[in-house]
Amino acid sequence: MTGGMANMIDGRALAAEERRVLGDRVASLAAQGRQVRLDAILTEGDAGAEIYAQRQRAGAEQLGIKFHLHTIPQDADEATVFACIQGLNADPQVHAMMMFLPLPEGVEPERIQAAIDPHKDVEGVNPANIGNAVFGRRSLVPCTALAVRHMLERRGVDLCGVRCLVVGQSNIVGKPIALLLMRSEATVFSVNRFTKDLPDLARTCDVVISAAGVPGLVTPEWIKPGATVIDVGINRIQGPDGKSHVVGDVETTEVAEVAGAISPVPGGVGPVTVAMLLRNVVESAEQATGG
Ligand code: NAD
Repeated sequence: MTGGMANMIDGRALAAEERRVLGDRVASLAAQGRQVRLDAILTEGDAGAEIYAQRQRAGAEQLGIKFHLHTIPQDADEATVFACIQGLNADPQVHAMMMFLPLPEGVEPERIQAAIDPHKDVEGVNPANIGNAVFGRRSLVPCTALAVRHMLERRGVDLCGVRCLVVGQSNIVGKPIALLLMRSEATVFSVNRFTKDLPDLARTCDVVISAAGVPGLVTPEWIKPGATVIDVGINRIQGPDGKSHVVGDVETTEVAEVAGAISPVPGGVGPVTVAMLLRNVVESAEQATGG
């Protein structure tokens, strides 16, 4: 093996593999006359969200999933957004929905997310879904957490009894990751910006997952030789050439010299997260149609 690149976890390849599996599941539903579909809500006027929606459409349609986009005017009030959600909740043709942020000014995302039918909530943003996951019941879980678990599973990491560090405790990223690892009987250390002596704790762990949003946070001195490192961070920084780059939380090149396996940014957790959203869509379709 030559250098650190040998132990990279290729998120794009894992995502492509998952998309092939999902394409077959969509086709088998179609053979029973059942069309898989994803409905998305987009507030007009945000260029980033519009690009993300176009990508989502392309990714879905490639698998044979129909994509319906519902746009909301930038000046809409909360009642308008609620009405859109309630219409989709009530429509039996709709079995999967997602909502791009930002919402119109003054509309609180958490109140709207809680109104999404939990069975159709493919982003796992309704608190009922995370609650059901705590109790080990079937539920739709946030896609980033699913991606991290999928990457570890495909890497052959048996999580039972393994010491795992999760850096970051947000409701939508860090906490769901920690929860899924607990569900796999891992020994989980969930830490935040106030945790003391983080490198010392990290060096006792076989799996290190960073979801802090801090470039350069995880250095080789954090890493037990042979550990698996998953970088969830997405940070835009200005490089020495003056151009902006996307990096994660981990000093990838240096850490790769010590770690057994490491997921890069870009090309790691990101593409797998997109694939996991589509997996949630297919699963909600299978559930809705008794598949
Ligand atoms: P957040 O800001 O809501 O939460 C950050 C968490 O990290 C907090 O719990 C904070 O205490 C902790 N933290 C911050 N600095 C720390 C430090 N120095 N040491 C230890 N802990 C520290 O962020 P978020 O929404 O959870 O997102 C985290 C990162 O994940 C961001 O970079 C975001 O862009 C990225 N993200 C990636 C994906 C993906 O699919 N790859 C999806 C969502 C978010």
